[in-house]
Amino acid sequence: MMTENTIGIIVDDDFASKHIPPYPKPSFISFEHPFRIRSILNHLERNNIFKNNRIIKVAPKIVTESILELAHSKYHIEAIKRISNIGGGFLDEDVFVSDDTYALAKKAVGGAIEAIEGVINGRFDQSFALIRPPGHHAFREKASGLCIFNNIANSILYLRKQLKFSQKIAIIDIDDHFGDGLAQFFYDDPSILYFSIHEFDFSGGDLGMIDELGIDEGIGKNINFPVPAGITNSDFLYCLELLDPIIKEFKPELIIVAAGFDMYFADPIGNCLLTSIAYNKFTERLLKIAEEVCKGKISFILEGGYNIIGLPYCVHAVIKALLNEKYEPPEFEKKFSLSDESKREELEKIKNFLMDLLHPLGTQ
Ligand SMILES: [Zn+2]
Repeated sequence: MMTENTIGIIVDDDFASKHIPPYPKPSFISFEHPFRIRSILNHLERNNIFKNNRIIKVAPKIVTESILELAHSKYHIEAIKRISNIGGGFLDEDVFVSDDTYALAKKAVGGAIEAIEGVINGRFDQSFALIRPPGHHAFREKASGLCIFNNIANSILYLRKQLKFSQKIAIIDIDDHFGDGLAQFFYDDPSILYFSIHEFDFSGGDLGMIDELGIDEGIGKNINFPVPAGITNSDFLYCLELLDPIIKEFKPELIIVAAGFDMYFADPIGNCLLTSIAYNKFTERLLKIAEEVCKGKISFILEGGYNIIGLPYCVHAVIKALLNEKYEPPEFEKKFSLSDESKREELEKIKNFLMDLLHPLGTQ
C-alpha cells in the first residue's frame, strides 16, 4: 500500500496578532491585517485540520539578519528595523511599518524557509506557510505593495547559498497581482521558472506583460499570463492548463506556489470572480503534475487574499486537495449570483500569443 502524504503547515500566533495597520478602514493598507491569519486558523481548527495525523504543525525557522542579507540590501533591512524601533510609520501609501514589523517580516521569511526546506529534506511531502506580511512585491532594495521582505525569493536564495541546493525550481504565482519583486530576483536565472497569472492592470505601470520573458540565460523562464478583470473559475483553470506542458518540459525538483487568494470574488482588492473550488481544482491538478515530475514536492506560501470570510475557505480548499479528500464549498458561495460570462475568447488569444512567443525559446 502506498504511504499517505503528509503536509507541513507553518503557523505562529504572532502572524495572527502583530503588524497591525496604523489606520482602520477605509484605507487600502488596512486590508493586510492579522485577522487574515486569525480567520484561517479558526476555520482550520473548526474543521479539525490540525487533528488529522497527516498534518504536521510546524513553527517558522528562526532566521538571523545574515539570512535576510541573502536577498536584501543592508540599507533596506536597516530601514525597516529602524522604523520599527521608533514605533513605525509609512514607507509609501502602500507600505506601513509598525513596531512589530521588522520582527514579524523576518519571521515570515523563516516561515517560508521552513515550509520549503521541510519539503526538500522530506520532513513532509507538501507544505503551506500561513505567514504575513506577504512578500512577492518586495524588491532587493525596497518594500512595496504591502510586502516587506520577499519571503519566497529569500527562501530560494537560502536554499542556493546555505543548503547548496542547485536543482531547478518552478514558482507558480496565482496572486491577483503580478509579483514584480519576485520576478525581478530571478529574471536572468535559467534555473528558476517564474509563471504568473495575474489581473492585467493598466494603472499599475504596465508590468507583467507577456513579452517580459526573462533576460540573458533566463530568457523563456519568466512567463506572464495577464488576464482581464472578471475571470471565472473555469477561465482560471483554462489558463492554468498551460502549466502541464510547461512544468513537464522544465522538470523542476520543487514547485513553489505564491499562494495569493485575491482573485476571490469578494476580495476588496482583486476584481476577479473565483470561488474556493477553483483553488481546490487547481491544487488537485498541480499535485498530479508534481507527482509526475518532482515526487509531489510542492510548497504553498501565502501571499495576498484580503476577504477574511472567503480567505479561510480558499486555504482549506487547497489543504483538502493536498489531503486528497473531498472539498465541499460553503453554501454562501452558491448564493451569490456571480457572472459566469466567460472571458474564454480573450484568454484564448492571450494563450496562443504567449505560446507563439515561448515556442522558439524552448519553454513550450
Ligand atoms: Zn495581490
